[in-house]
Amino acid sequence: MDPRPCAACAKPLRPRAQRPDQIFCPAPECQRERKRRWQQERRKRDPDYRENEARGARQWRERHPEYWRRYREANVGYRERNRALQAQRDRNCARDRLANGDVSTTDPPIASGLYRLSLVGGGDIANGDVWVAEIRSISDP
Ligand SMILES: [Zn+2]
Repeated sequence: MDPRPCAACAKPLRPRAQRPDQIFCPAPECQRERKRRWQQERRKRDPDYRENEARGARQWRERHPEYWRRYREANVGYRERNRALQAQRDRNCARDRLANGDVSTTDPPIASGLYRLSLVGGGDIANGDVWVAEIRSISDP
């Protein structure tokens, strides 16, 4: 069988007769890459596998509660990159909220200023919680 390039390192690979579909060479780093891709694919397709891994990671974090805090203290580059990525996510989130139709972008109906609020009625309104008031600007003649 003709050699083909390894899917990880691209060095020529002559597949074993028992595995004609072999695409990774036996080098340890290429076998790790093969396993990493297999796990990535499995996580994508198998919800049970994903849940099992998540549970395992959660249990590990519970047994090692200080690990990530110490890791961040010891790895300044990791911490700074994390902060920059979080700041970007925060900016994206703020931008998405502004793009949301719930936020009015027109001018407010009443300009900021000084106003007098005068009670003009409400005694005859059945609901005692309601006042009828007049708002007059006293800062802008
Ligand atoms: Zn390889």
